Amino acid sequence: MKLHIVYDEIHRLHADPSGRHPSDPWRLERALSALKASRVWELAELHRAPAPSDEALLLAHEPEYLRMLEEESRHGFHYIDRDTYITEHSLTAGKAFASATLQAVQSSLESREPWFVMPRPGGHHAGRKGWAMGAPTLGFCLVNYAGIAAKAFLRRGLRVLALDFDAHHGNGTQDILWQDARAVHIDIHEDGIYPGSGEVGDWGGEGAEGTKVNVPLPPFSGDREMRWAVRNVVEPIIEAFRPEAFVISAGFDAFVGDPLTHMRATESSFELFGELLRPFVGSRPLVIVLEGGYGQGLQKGLAAFFESLMGLREGGEGEEREPPHGRDVRELLARFWGIG
Ligand SMILES: [Zn+2]
Repeated sequence: MKLHIVYDEIHRLHADPSGRHPSDPWRLERALSALKASRVWELAELHRAPAPSDEALLLAHEPEYLRMLEEESRHGFHYIDRDTYITEHSLTAGKAFASATLQAVQSSLESREPWFVMPRPGGHHAGRKGWAMGAPTLGFCLVNYAGIAAKAFLRRGLRVLALDFDAHHGNGTQDILWQDARAVHIDIHEDGIYPGSGEVGDWGGEGAEGTKVNVPLPPFSGDREMRWAVRNVVEPIIEAFRPEAFVISAGFDAFVGDPLTHMRATESSFELFGELLRPFVGSRPLVIVLEGGYGQGLQKGLAAFFESLMGLREGGEGEEREPPHGRDVRELLARFWGIG
């Protein structure tokens, strides 16, 4: 079993020349070096991104949003909101990684081998028309690759589970999948930080009620709360929903010490996510997209996740702790899923 990894130096063209923005090219270099240092590297097959494509991007985004990005690209490096910059090459890179995401979907459908797409610019905060679910900014993101992968699986008639364990709410992905009952989106995130969305009561649009499952965790949550979410939310939903394809928004900013969050997850949490998905490696298409991570999570959390996913590392048992919103989440599962 191989792990296919998309890495392409085109991502370096998306950079703030001051070097002070958290979405800096060093993030991908650090993540790639962690993979190279890991045992998982023996299973890795590296791919470059294919040619940029509008078509791939338009699976998840409205044409008017693409036109806006094209217009902004003409002006060279600048900020399009107070968090998010664009350069003359950012959109080209984004379209190339959008194409790579489609290639990952197609290849994983054929081989059932997992694909890991490492894109820049991100990611999961970009909604259908850009700014999503009341978020004040695009949160460093221009193109939603997880949304593209989910839409590509849906287009083939498959039931999709999109799981987002980045510490920020994946408001863009949720916006893109809001109306689709065949796409379950489970998002585990820190409560009260950017983008401010992701309440338990946001459970999906008309006809898709209960398919969007938000699990907000209080600041300073760690492995015990993550384990509660996996055991009591993600696993029962997988059992009830029986997904035919998986899209994972793999962010590593819930790792303790991350400068952008207050979470305290350790390698144990990311081993658990790997272990959760391991039974589907080889049996279901699985596309993993790198989202955030601005500290050592990009190395330790990422290596723990992939080694566990590929069966090279065992996660141990651990304690669970139900978070304050746990009861609301359990009520949602009982109401819409008959779980509990
Ligand atoms: Zn994040």
